[in-house]
Amino acid sequence: MKAKVAKKRSWAEPYKIKMVELLKMTTKEQRKKAIVEAGYNTFLLKSEDVYIDLLTDSGTNAMSDQQWAGLMLGDEAYAGSKNFYHLDDAVKKYYGYKYMIPTHQGRGAENILSKILIKQGDVIPGNMYFTTTRLHQELAGGNFVDVIIDEAHDSTNLHPFKGNIDLKKVEALIKKHGSKKIPYICVATTVNMAGGQPISMENLKALRKLTKAHGIKIILDMTRVAENAYFIKEREKGYENKSIAAIVKETCSYTDGATMSAKKDALVNIGGFLAINDKDVYEEASNMVVVYEGLHTYGGLAGRDMEAMAIGIGESVSDEHMNARIGQVLYLGEKLKEAGIPIVEPIGGHGIFIDAKRFLPHLKQDQFPAQVLAAEIFIDSGVRTMERGIVSAGRNSKGENYYPELELVRLTIPRRVYTQAHMDVIAESIENVYENRNKIKGLKMVYEPKYLRFFQAKFRKL
Ligand SMILES: *Cc1c(COP(=O)(O)O)cnc(C)c1O
Repeated sequence: MKAKVAKKRSWAEPYKIKMVELLKMTTKEQRKKAIVEAGYNTFLLKSEDVYIDLLTDSGTNAMSDQQWAGLMLGDEAYAGSKNFYHLDDAVKKYYGYKYMIPTHQGRGAENILSKILIKQGDVIPGNMYFTTTRLHQELAGGNFVDVIIDEAHDSTNLHPFKGNIDLKKVEALIKKHGSKKIPYICVATTVNMAGGQPISMENLKALRKLTKAHGIKIILDMTRVAENAYFIKEREKGYENKSIAAIVKETCSYTDGATMSAKKDALVNIGGFLAINDKDVYEEASNMVVVYEGLHTYGGLAGRDMEAMAIGIGESVSDEHMNARIGQVLYLGEKLKEAGIPIVEPIGGHGIFIDAKRFLPHLKQDQFPAQVLAAEIFIDSGVRTMERGIVSAGRNSKGENYYPELELVRLTIPRRVYTQAHMDVIAESIENVYENRNKIKGLKMVYEPKYLRFFQAKFRKL
């Protein structure tokens, strides 16, 4: 008799669809024309010409009927809107911070916090940089130092918590500069630039112990804190029976404040906030926000946006939501792995990152393998992805190109927007491009803007 094997049970979306947005189907000829016109840069395509849009997970979330109903409850008073108080309650209830100031999006909070906490010449350690976060730290006079574990820089290393902080690197910085020069450590959950890799609770607790001994604050970049909690539940001993909501709240409890881009985890299209436990910092921030964003009870947002955010925060920490959210990302990643496509592992929380160096080994990095691969995927199926390689890395102060270790194409999955059938179509398209990979030629850059060139650069086929 055959042994009975426990049947694997599938996850499914914990919602049904009430309204749909029709997608435009295009021909291969139309897509070829569109990508040539866009200079082989997916940022320069018209959204209308895109079939499945994986450019980013930022602000591309589908809101629930509750959130849409919330929009109609917008209290558009200039001061003291009731939606502000709903948002304040949600931040206290789900994240546990004492004070909250809304901002138009994450970088608004980063600007204010950096200006208040950083003095000229300060050192800000962080688990890998994020573009806007680092820029605001530098504009405030600080110097960012990467203290992520070395494993994070290797696309094939299977460490379960590649977002972890190397405490030895932090200790060395304290020894070198003194704790007075380190106002805070910036901790990201999950780490976007490492491919959506999580940090463990054990690592965060140890960091809390270390920073407490030296009087250094921890500021959480909590953009994807609920996605981080999912990985803790899946991979960290002692958390398997805890809820995502409980893990999120515990994560926040080891930190002194946070900046939030609600365009990711919190299931809205615009919004963010600064949260802080220190009353003095809060008072200074609530004064400064008036200069850059708006009064401290709206911070650049309409009342309706704050209401949608308050509801979205509650929905984002549900176990069912997170199982489906990351389940979908894993589903696509596993499909690509089965087909032999080289991707960054372990699979991260918000997208799949294809290793273009291994996909197109016949191209030199100067021929922009990730840029051309994103263009080829678009031509094949109308799926829009983006480059994270030599184009994104830009040039150093001497004007020389950076040659980053990782040359990636990012497939970022918007929350609650696409179905499993879309994931199948995406995987089949990439498999098709992979089968014909030997025929793909490189690119030549014909227009290079001075700042953040990946957004607007143009290319021609070699
Ligand atoms: C998006 C993002 C930010 C910045 O937030 P915006 O809302 O785009 O201003 C900061 N940190 C991380 C990790 C992000 O992904």
